[in-house]
Amino acid sequence: MVRLTLAGPELAGFTVDEPAASVRLLVPSPGTDELVMPTWNGNEFLLPDGRRPALRTFTPRRFDPEALQLDLDIVLHGGGVASSWAAAAQPGDAAAVSGPGRGYTVDPDAAAYVLVGDETAIPAIGQLLDALPPGMPVEVHIEVAHPDARLPLPEHEGAAVAWHELPASALPGDAMVAAVRDADIPDGARVWAAGEAAAVHRIRRHLFEERGVARSRTSVRGYWKHGRAGDGDGESDSDSD
Ligand SMILES: Cc1cc2nc3c(=O)[nH]c(=O)nc-3n(C[C@H](O)[C@H](O)[C@H](O)COP(=O)(O)OP(=O)(O)OC[C@H]3O[C@@H](n4cnc5c(N)ncnc54)[C@H](O)[C@@H]3O)c2cc1C
Repeated sequence: MVRLTLAGPELAGFTVDEPAASVRLLVPSPGTDELVMPTWNGNEFLLPDGRRPALRTFTPRRFDPEALQLDLDIVLHGGGVASSWAAAAQPGDAAAVSGPGRGYTVDPDAAAYVLVGDETAIPAIGQLLDALPPGMPVEVHIEVAHPDARLPLPEHEGAAVAWHELPASALPGDAMVAAVRDADIPDGARVWAAGEAAAVHRIRRHLFEERGVARSRTSVRGYWKHGRAGDGDGESDSDSD
């Protein structure tokens, strides 16, 4: 994970009102250093030469409206245009952001919260811990591919945090799915989960079909797709209250 701080007068007026919101980050296309702005053709954003731009979705981890600085925490997963760009980025390199997209509305009256995610969800889970009422019981399950991926999370007096290391032979999300199967989900609890799209799909099926958790009490979202570039945004596995 690397923290990128984006800054510039263009961020004036940017606000993030809710946790687990999103922004779209535009970085130079692979093989170039130049940031070319795409245009909307009514269906999708395209570059002037007709190619798809390198646009990916991230969590606006922290925004400082005085300094006009926006932090993004980006997983370095060893491939991918945004991850590779973030790994090599130098001060002064150009990128663009748009957003923010809708965040998550906390239910202060929930009996408890269960927060589940992989490394891509750590920024959002941190924000959710900041936003949940102090007395709320919160069970947190985070899957990491390597023990070094564990990061300090904001203190929350009601939170119990479990880190689950993904065995080398396992599919992304396997440890997250197993954690949800074992989790105590009391009546009246709310579940928030995000991570690899197929894994969160399995989580939805478990919650809805095996546990009978009401969809209205869950927000389960695909953040990326194993073996496919782009993010999972809006394509599947998005239920919210
Ligand atoms: C609402 C929302 C919020 C998000 N917030 C964050 C965030 O704060 N931080 C963050 O790092 N990501 C976040 N993501 C996920 C991020 O958008 C994807 O991981 C995205 O695919 C990364 O783009 P890339 O260019 O690096 O890889 P891509 O070019 O999209 O993918 C290239 C290859 O890498 C694989 N890949 C992509 N992501 C991962 C991964 N994490 N681990 C292993 N393999 C991967 C793909 O399956 C593909 O095979 C968020 C997604 C959504 C929808």
